[in-house]
Formats: sequence, C-alpha cells, structure tokens
Amino acid sequence: MGRLIETAHAKINLALDVGQVRRDGYHEIHSVMQSLELGDIVILEDRPAGISLDCSLGDPVKQGVLRFEGSDVESLPPSDCHNLAWQAAEHLMDATGVRRGLHITIRKAIPVSAGLAGGSADAAAVLRGLNRLWSLGLTITELVDIGEKIGADIPFCLVEGTAEVSGIGEKVKAAEAPPPWPIILLKPPVSVSTAACYAAYDRLPQGVKVDVDYLLTALAEKDIYKVAKGLGNSLETVTLQRFPDLVRWKEIMKTAGCLGVLMSGSGPTLFGLVRDLEEGSVVFMKLIDSIKQEQQGPLPNLYFTRLWSRQVG
Ligand code: ATP
Repeated sequence: MGRLIETAHAKINLALDVGQVRRDGYHEIHSVMQSLELGDIVILEDRPAGISLDCSLGDPVKQGVLRFEGSDVESLPPSDCHNLAWQAAEHLMDATGVRRGLHITIRKAIPVSAGLAGGSADAAAVLRGLNRLWSLGLTITELVDIGEKIGADIPFCLVEGTAEVSGIGEKVKAAEAPPPWPIILLKPPVSVSTAACYAAYDRLPQGVKVDVDYLLTALAEKDIYKVAKGLGNSLETVTLQRFPDLVRWKEIMKTAGCLGVLMSGSGPTLFGLVRDLEEGSVVFMKLIDSIKQEQQGPLPNLYFTRLWSRQVG
C-alpha cells in the first residue's frame, strides 16, 4: 500500500486581463500566474477499493507561511465527491482506465473562495501525485488535458511556478521566474463567487485592459519596482465596488509600505509585494496594528509568505 505527500501551492495573478466571453460562457484570459509558498498538504494513500476524503484545517505556519495573523480558515470545502481533489481522482481513473482504491487527506491552509485557486491546487496535486504513486507515466501535457476538464486554473496549478496563461486557462507557458520575493496576503472576511464576479464584469459598459506584456518584461528584468507598477487585474473594479472595505484595505497596505497592491483572481484576497524579509516584517507589524484598530466586525487574516517556483524553492 503506497503513500505520498504533495504540496498544493496557492496562486496569485500578477496580471489578469479578461477578454471576450465565448459562446460556452467561459472568458478568454491573458494572465501571469505565480505560485506561492503557502500551500495545502495533500496526502494520497492506497486503499483496497473506493475513494474517501478527509479535509481538515491545516497550520499556515507549517505550510509555507512565515507569519500568520488572524483566525482559522473560516470555512472548509466539502469532504465528499464535490471536492475538486476527489473529482480529479475520478477523472484520472476514467482517462486511464486504472481503477484503484484511494484515501485523500487535505490539510487546508489556503483560504477558500479567496481568489487563490485552492481547490484547483488540490486537484492538481492529486493528478500529479497519483501519476507518481501509481507509476502511470503520464506527461504534463496529458495531465493538463485531464485537468482542464475539471477547472480552468488546474493547468497552471499542474505546471506551477511562474507562467503566462491564456485561452481560458488551458494554455500555460513557463515565464521567467522572479526571485522568492516576500509577499503579504490580506484575506478579508468575505467570499467571492468567481461566476458572480465574471457576470458583474460582463455588465460593465466596457472591459478593463491590463498590459500583461509589460509585467512579463518587468519579471524578465527581475525589477520589483517595475513589477509592482505593472500589477493589474481586470476583475478588481467589480469586486472592489461590491466590497468597498477592500478599497480601504488596499490603501492601508500601501500606506504600511507594500510596493504594489492588487487583488488576486476574482478576489477578495489582496496581495502586496515587499522588497525583502526585513522590510516585510516591518510592514506586517504595521498591518497588524492597523487591523487591531478596527473596532467592528470580523477582521481580515494576514499571511506573510513568498513567491515560489521549483527553481528557487
Ligand atoms: P478560483 O479562483 O479558481 O475560482 P478560488 O480560490 O476563488 O478559486 P477555491 O478556494 O478554489 O476558490 O474554492 C472555490 C469553490 O470550490 C468553493 O465553493 C469550494 O467549496 C469548492 N471546492 C471544492 N473542492 C475544494 C478544495 N479542495 N479546496 C477549496 N475549495 C474547494
């Protein structure tokens, strides 16, 4: 009976340009996606028959986060066939004809419905992991073919690191990986439905253009100031309109010293780049102070982590 552990890294969009909506309802995108050290732990274990899944709260500080401030991940995904990790195992078995028993354990550190592709990362970890555990010999292209049928962010989550992503997410081209720059995530206490966010975007009188090529050049030059300047996300406006508190949090992150602040994916998580670990610690402390001054309502969670890629990880 084999057992294997995979890390399912969170992703952020350093740039996300949303284009036309296709007839099937999916949007064309052009994006630069980046993995983070923050990740879920996915354990795969052989079983005599059937699929079972156990999903519980992980510990961010043991899962790629240098410092965490806040309450536990507010919600957990389902521990049944609705979990994307379970669906990934089923799709893989259907595609290969291999039928084996499996138990999946997920220690969740990536906040759910946060714009950090946690579900897609778990599904990708299952595909990658089972390919190894069961010696299936599938290429990354074959895994991407299976993954794209489950979710649009899964192809990137299979490749990981830094990549230019296009189509509806299925075209993934490795890009110049930046150094492991520190980054601070602020996860406000609200969840965003990706579908609702895209629907609201379609109702805007005109789309919001983002210069993805500028960001790719900035990355190739490893120029953190240029990257900070080039951050952009077509979907940010609609989520900020829906949750005006995010506008205030963005300002607070900038004032605390983040070089550039952007919402990831459909949100609501905001990320801020910082120059180095020392400066990041100072910014992080300032943000904790700002959060503690907030009197009403649930407060955001803060994660101090770093950009991740296989080369530097
Ligand atoms: P995306 O931007 O790719 O839509 P997200 O980061 O905004 O992703 P996820 O955390 O991936 O959001 O969760 C989106 C939905 O998927 C939630 O409704 C959640 O219940 C469901 N889900 C299913 N499986 C998982 C999983 N393993 N981890 C997280 N969410 C999952």
